[in-house]
Amino acid sequence: MNHDLKQLIRLQTIDLAIQELRTRIDKFPGISKALDEKLRSAQAALESAKEKAKSNQSTRKKLESEISSIETKISKYRDQMMAVKTNDEYRALQHEIEHAQNAIRRIEDEVLNLMMDAESSQVDIKAAEARLKEDQRKVDQERTQLIEQNQRDLSALESYLKERKGLEISISSDLLPRYERVRKARGGIAVAAARNEVCEICQVRIRPQVFQEIRRNDQIIACDACQRILYNPENLDHPFEVA
Ligand SMILES: [Zn+2]
Repeated sequence: MNHDLKQLIRLQTIDLAIQELRTRIDKFPGISKALDEKLRSAQAALESAKEKAKSNQSTRKKLESEISSIETKISKYRDQMMAVKTNDEYRALQHEIEHAQNAIRRIEDEVLNLMMDAESSQVDIKAAEARLKEDQRKVDQERTQLIEQNQRDLSALESYLKERKGLEISISSDLLPRYERVRKARGGIAVAAARNEVCEICQVRIRPQVFQEIRRNDQIIACDACQRILYNPENLDHPFEVA
C-alpha cells in the first residue's frame, strides 16, 4: 500500500475525530450552565412556598395585635360604664362592647383560617424541599458524567493532536498542503472511499480504468469531481486502519 495514502487515510480519521471532540468540548460550558437552569424551577417553588408561609405569619401577627387593641378598647368601655349617669349612655356603651366583641370573633375566625393555611404551607415547603433535593441529586449526577466526558475528550484531543504532528512530518511535503486545501474547501473531508466505481462522498462515477487503479491503493488519485483523494476501503493493510 502507498505509504502517503495510508497516512492520509489515518490523518482524515484523526481530523474528523478532532472535529467531533472540539465540537463537544465547545458545548461543555453551555451544557454545564443549562444544568443550573434545571434547578431554577424547584428553587423558585421552594421560595414561593416559604414566602407564602412568611406572609401568613405576618398577617396573623397583625390580626392578633388588632384583637388586643380591641380588647383594650373594651376594657376602657367597661371603665366608662362605671361612671355613666344615664341608661342611654349605659346602653350605648353596651352596644359598643358587643360590636367590638363581634369584631374580635370575626378576626379570630380569620386567624384560624390562616393557621390552617400555615399547616398546608408547611406541607408545601416540605414537598418543595424534597423536589429540590431530588433535582439537585440528578443534576449532580449529570454534572459528574459531563465532567468525566469532558476530561476524556480533552485527553483524547491531546493524544490525537500529538499523533497528527507525527503524521504531518511523515507525509510527503507536497501532499499535506494539498490535503489541507481540499479539506478546507470540502467540508472537512479530503480523503474519500471509492466503492462500486463511485466516490463515496460526492457520489460521482469514477471511470472504470481509474477505479481499477484506485483498487490497488498504491498511488495518490483524486476524484475528478470533488478533488478528494480516493482509496479502496476493501484493500487496506489491516481492517482497523480507518477506525
Ligand atoms: Zn468525489
